[in-house]
Amino acid sequence: MAGGDDKNRKPATRLVTGGRSGSFAKDVVNPPVWRASTHLYDTCEDLRARRPRNEDGQFYYGRRGSPTQWALCEALTDLEPGAGGTVLYPSGLAAIVGALMAVLQNGDVLLVADNAYDPTRNTAMGVLKRFGVEHRFFDPHDLAGFEAAFCERTRAVMLEVPGSLTMEMCDIPALAAVARKHGAVSLVDNTWATALGFRGLEKGCDIVITALTKHVGGHSDLMMGAATAGKAWYRRLRLGAQQLGHVVSPDDAALALRGLRTMGLRLERETQTALAIAEWLQQRVEVAHVLCPMLPGSPGHDLWQRDFTGGCGLLSFVLAGRDDAARCRLIDNLDLFGIGYSWGGFESLALPFDVEPVRAVMAWPKSGWGVEDRYAIRLSIGLEDADDLIADLARGFAAMDEG
Ligand SMILES: *Cc1c(COP(=O)(O)O)cnc(C)c1O
Repeated sequence: MAGGDDKNRKPATRLVTGGRSGSFAKDVVNPPVWRASTHLYDTCEDLRARRPRNEDGQFYYGRRGSPTQWALCEALTDLEPGAGGTVLYPSGLAAIVGALMAVLQNGDVLLVADNAYDPTRNTAMGVLKRFGVEHRFFDPHDLAGFEAAFCERTRAVMLEVPGSLTMEMCDIPALAAVARKHGAVSLVDNTWATALGFRGLEKGCDIVITALTKHVGGHSDLMMGAATAGKAWYRRLRLGAQQLGHVVSPDDAALALRGLRTMGLRLERETQTALAIAEWLQQRVEVAHVLCPMLPGSPGHDLWQRDFTGGCGLLSFVLAGRDDAARCRLIDNLDLFGIGYSWGGFESLALPFDVEPVRAVMAWPKSGWGVEDRYAIRLSIGLEDADDLIADLARGFAAMDEG
């Protein structure tokens, strides 16, 4: 078993072969879980010789990982064309913060897409600000405005696609090209599509961040994040993570690796069911807007078709002329949808959200929408039967209007 070094292999195959090139690979399918803080050296000379090298795949001390974490890194790197390596972090947010701290320094300016994940915004407004990094939010649909936002000190651009909760698509290749022209690093949060659905480095970004907590774990039982980049940025990320003391547990790495093996199948199924549900929602009089770029005719569907090779089960919708109490009645009366944060697990979830307080420059409700179009729900579609989920939603809608 040589491992995945054939460049022509398709992603489905890479999901199976990735991360299996280690020395254990001929003996077992999955890498053993190396629970180790301490690695032993043969002699003092051996210990001294390894200290300055700081190379991948070398035992040093638990914080630099073991073959279990390295196998996961290798598998994730193998999925991203153009990647030189992957760094793991204890959560998706830690990956975002860790990557930003690895590329930014005091006096720099960071541009943040206004539809970025809320905790990403808080990082810009909180810890980064305290360390002397300024930030500006920009509307990712306004390319001219984005370009005008650059100044001498603009060092990095934080992108996300589709937008958190509101699911807007944006033209990542165009935004990344502008960033590059101005000498800024572009980072993209690619949690929604994963490397299977969107190849961030190929589309011009420098660093791709994925919350492995979501689709990669896939079973709602672990927290982890990853940042994948070409060789040069990878070295920088790795050093940053080492200096911040980031490490993930080998047990969690083994779980993530297990999740990764079936991720392609799960995403395919979730996408199919989510599309069926989006089409059904579109027909309902209780629904004003379905926010799902995979849905033909939806805003951004053309960009999704152009830039993406897959989707997932995460979509949102806005209620027509209902209030928050009605929205809660709908959600509370669902049997198959749990109420909770996170997404990308095998089980369906529903989450009420109001965007208005967390947008700085983008309008919500959107232009052309009614003033009452503000009570929204995000659905994370799991692996249940599509008809059962639709029947559950129909029951929820009925209960909403009975109240
Ligand atoms: C959940 C999420 C994260 C953060 O991941 P955690 O593992 O929960 O810290 C980052 N980005 C997006 C888009 C997410 O949905």
